[in-house]
Amino acid sequence: MKYVYFFGNGDADGDESMRAELGGKGANLAQMAKAPLSLPVPAGFTITTDVCQKYYELGRKYPEELYPQVDEYLAKLESVMGKKLGDENDPLLVSVRSGAAISMPGMMDTILNLGLNDKAVEGLTKKTGNERFAWDAYRRFIQMYGDVAMGVDHDKFEAIIDEVKEKAGVKQDTELTTENLKEIVSKYKAMYKKEKGEDFPQDAKQQMWGAIGAVFGSWMNPRAIKYRKLNNIKEGALKGTAVTVMAMVFGNKGETSGTGVCFSRDPSTGENVFMGEYLMNAQGEDVVAGIRTPQKLAQLEQTNKKIYDELCQIRDRLEKHYHDMQDMEFTVEEGKLYMLQCRNGKRTGAAAVKMAVDMVKEGLIDKETAIMRVEPEQLNQLLLPQLDKDAVKKATEIAAGLNASPGAGCGQIVFTAEEAEEWAKNGKKVLLVRKETSPDDIAGMAVSQGILTSTGGRTSHAAVVARGMGTPCVCGCSDVTFKDAETVVIKGKNYKKGDFLTIDGATGLVYEGQVAVKPATISGDLETFLGWADEIRANSERVTESGNTVKGFDIYANGDTPQNAIDAFRFGAMGIGLCRTEHMFFDEPKLTDFQKMIISEDTAARKENLAKILPHQQKDFYEIIKTMEGRPVTIRLLDPPLNEFIQAETDSQLTALAQKLGVDKEALSRKVMQLAEHNPMLGHRGCRLAITYPEIYEMQVEAIARATAQLEKESKKHNVLIMIPNVVSYNEVEQIRKQAEAVIDKVNKEKGVNLKFEIGSMIEFPRAALSAGKIAKYADFFSFGTNDLTQTTFGFSRDDYGKFIESYLQQRILEDDPFATLDEDGPAALMEIAEEKGRTVNQHLHLGICGEHGGDPASIHICYRIGLNYVSCSPYRVPLARLAGAQAVIDYERKHQ
Ligand code: ADP
Ligand code: MG
Ligand code: MG
Repeated sequence: MKYVYFFGNGDADGDESMRAELGGKGANLAQMAKAPLSLPVPAGFTITTDVCQKYYELGRKYPEELYPQVDEYLAKLESVMGKKLGDENDPLLVSVRSGAAISMPGMMDTILNLGLNDKAVEGLTKKTGNERFAWDAYRRFIQMYGDVAMGVDHDKFEAIIDEVKEKAGVKQDTELTTENLKEIVSKYKAMYKKEKGEDFPQDAKQQMWGAIGAVFGSWMNPRAIKYRKLNNIKEGALKGTAVTVMAMVFGNKGETSGTGVCFSRDPSTGENVFMGEYLMNAQGEDVVAGIRTPQKLAQLEQTNKKIYDELCQIRDRLEKHYHDMQDMEFTVEEGKLYMLQCRNGKRTGAAAVKMAVDMVKEGLIDKETAIMRVEPEQLNQLLLPQLDKDAVKKATEIAAGLNASPGAGCGQIVFTAEEAEEWAKNGKKVLLVRKETSPDDIAGMAVSQGILTSTGGRTSHAAVVARGMGTPCVCGCSDVTFKDAETVVIKGKNYKKGDFLTIDGATGLVYEGQVAVKPATISGDLETFLGWADEIRANSERVTESGNTVKGFDIYANGDTPQNAIDAFRFGAMGIGLCRTEHMFFDEPKLTDFQKMIISEDTAARKENLAKILPHQQKDFYEIIKTMEGRPVTIRLLDPPLNEFIQAETDSQLTALAQKLGVDKEALSRKVMQLAEHNPMLGHRGCRLAITYPEIYEMQVEAIARATAQLEKESKKHNVLIMIPNVVSYNEVEQIRKQAEAVIDKVNKEKGVNLKFEIGSMIEFPRAALSAGKIAKYADFFSFGTNDLTQTTFGFSRDDYGKFIESYLQQRILEDDPFATLDEDGPAALMEIAEEKGRTVNQHLHLGICGEHGGDPASIHICYRIGLNYVSCSPYRVPLARLAGAQAVIDYERKHQ
C-alpha cells in the first residue's frame, strides 16, 4: 500500500481529490505544487491518514512498510533540495505538520526547523552567513520539539526567554542578540536534560520520527477530541490526521523576509477585497501568537510591491481554481515568496451569503453550488435584531451577564410577566427583568423585546424559552438586585419601572437607556439568495413510495397571532401550516367565558358560554386570514385537555376562581377534581373533546366560517383549511367532518356565500399513520404532528426524557435526540407508511409537517424524500427552512441521478 506521497519540483503524486488520504493541507499542497497552478511550494511528502488509523489499531505502532517508503521519499526530498537532513555543513531543515480531511485549525501540533543540532547550527551559520538567524531557528526548534514531541511544559521555556530578555533589558524577541540566543539555547538544553533525564536528541532522523509520532499522537489529544465533539464530527468518521514533512523556508532571515496569513475575500463581511496580516522577520506562528502586532496586508503594497502583486495574482488563480474564498499562509524568504497552505476559508453567515451571491454574478459558481455552500444555521446570525453600531459607541454600559439568546432588545423595564403583558397591550415596548422566569411567565416573555435575569445559566428556563422564541436574553446578571416592586438596583444605581434599558443577547451586555436596535430584514443579497432557494424548491419533483410524482416543496410557518403571521410573511412563508386556537382563549374576557363553558353542567349552559366566545374567535381568525392575503392558513381546532384552562392548586386560588366565575366553591372543587388526569398528554383532549362535546368544535368552525364570509364580502383573499388534532380513527374524521360541513352550510345560507373549506387531519399517533388509507377517504390533507408522533412512537415522554437522553446519546444507543431530528426508524418510517397508504387512496392528498422538526435541516431532508408538499416551522426559522429545503432537493437529485 502506498503510504507516502511526494510533492514539489513542479509536480506531485497526489492532488486535491485526495483529502481523505492526504488531509486538507496535504491535498492542497500537492494541488498547488503541480500544474496547472504550479505555485512556489517548498518540496515535501505527506504520510497518509491510513497510517494514522493503523497507528492506533496497532497500539501506537507503524505498519512495517512505512519505514522504507519514508526513506525513499526523504532521499527524494534531499535530492530535490540539494541538502541532507542532519548534514553538519549544510543541513536540510523540515517542518512536520498535521492535517485532517476536515480542517481543525490549531487543534493538532506542528514542529518547525527540524534537523538542527549543536553542529548543524554552526553549518547553517556558515552557509547563510547569518549567525543570529541560525541560533533563533535552533532555539525555536528546541522549544517546539521539547514541548510538542517530548511533553516538556511550555511555560518552562517561556520562563527562560523572559529571564534572558529581562537581563538584556529588551521587550521583543526580535531585539535579542545572537549571544542572548546562544544563552537561551544552552539554558533550554540544561532544563530539558533535567526534565527528561537525557540530552536533547541530536540525531536528525530520530528527531523526525519523534515529530511524526507527536503529530499522530495529537489526533487523540483532549483538545482535538473536544474540537470534534463541538463540531459534530463523530469519532471514527475520519481516518485521522495525515503528516506532512516539508522543506523549511525562513521568514526570520531579516527585514527582507517575513510571514503572513491572508484571505481572498473578507471573511467577516464577504466583501471582495484582499485582506490579511503579516510580520517581517518572523516565523510561522508568530502572527497568530500575538507576540508582536502584525501589519495589514495593504501595507505590503507600499513596502514590497513585487511580493504584493505576486500574492494578488496567486489569490486570483486560487479562487478561480477552487471557486471559493481562500485562506492562505505564505512566507517570504529574502525576497522570494512561498505558499505554505491554502484552504476554503471559514466565514460568518453574512459573508457566506454575500460571497455565494457575488460568485454567481462573477460566473465563478452556479446557483446550486451557491445554495449548497451556506449552512442553514448560519442564517440565524443575519436575522436577529442588532444594536446599531454607531449607537453602541455612545451608549453607557452598566452591567454584564451571560449571553443566553442572541439579538438586541430595548424597552421599558417591568418586573412581572403580568406587567409585561399589560404594558405591551397598551402599545409599549417592554424589557422583562426578573430574578428567574417560570412557565407562568411565558405570555409576558413572548411580548417582551428582551429578557434580563439576575440568576440562572444558559440552560435556565429564561434562556431556553427565549432562544425558542427568538427573543434576546441576558441571564445570570448578578449586578441586578431587586429593591422593591418598583425598583431594581444595578451597580448602586436605581432604575424604576418604566425606565429604558437595552440588552445585547449576543454579548451579554446591558446598556442604560435606549440604544437603537435595527430589526432583521430580508433584503439585498439574502433576498436574492433565498429567491434562488425558492426557485429550486418550486421546480423540484420526485416520485414517492405511493408511486405519485410530487412537485414543489413549500415552506409554511406555525403562527397563532396576526403578529406571527406578519413575521412569517416577512420571512417568506408561503402559508400558515399550524394556527393553534388554544392561545386565543388565554386572554380575558375569552378565558372567563371559556372557563364557564368548561364547568357547565349541561349542553345548554355550555352552548350559551361558547356563543359568547364566538365573536372574539371570529375576530382573531379574521385578522390572521387577512394578513396572509390568500395564502393557506391551516387552523387547528382545540387541542389541549380542558384542565389546562382551570388551574386552582391552592385553596385561595380556588376561592378566587369561584368568585370570578360566580359559582359555588365546593362545586368548582368537585369539577376541578373531575377534570384532573393522570396522563393529560394521553387524556381527554383534541378531537376526543369533540366526540364528547361536539358544540366546542362547532363553535370554532362557525367562527372560522363567519370570519371567512366577512372577508369574502369585503372581496379580500382567503384560503382557510380546518385541521382536526389527535385523530386515531377515520370514524372521528368522518363524524367531525360531517358536523363541520353542516355548520359551514348554515353560515353559507345565512350570509349568502358559497364557502368551501379543506378539512384535514393531524397524523400524530401510530394508529393514525397505520390506518392512513382509511383516514384519507375523509381528509383533504394530513399534517404530521411529529412531536406527539415521536413521543408516542418511542414511548418517551417529552417532559421527562431529559433524564436519560444524555446517556442514550453518549453510549450511542441513539445517534440524535429524536425530538430535535426526525428519527428514520420510528416516526419517519410511520410517515412513509402514511404517505403510501394515504396517497394510494387519495392521490390529491396534501401532506405537511407542523412539529418542531419542520425547522430542523436534517429533518427537512427526510420530509422532502418522503414527499411532503411543505414543512411548517416557527416564523423566524422560515429563512433557514427555505434554504435547507433547497439543499434537500439538490441532495436528493445528486443521490438519484
Ligand atoms: P496549523 O494547522 O496550526 O496552521 P501549520 O502546519 O499550518 O499549523 O503550521 C504552523 C505555522 O508554521 C504556519 O504559520 C505555517 O505557515 C508555518 N510553517 C509550516 N511549515 C513551514 C515551512 N516548511 N516553512 C516555513 N513555515 C512553515
Ligand atoms: Mg496552518
Ligand atoms: Mg399534538
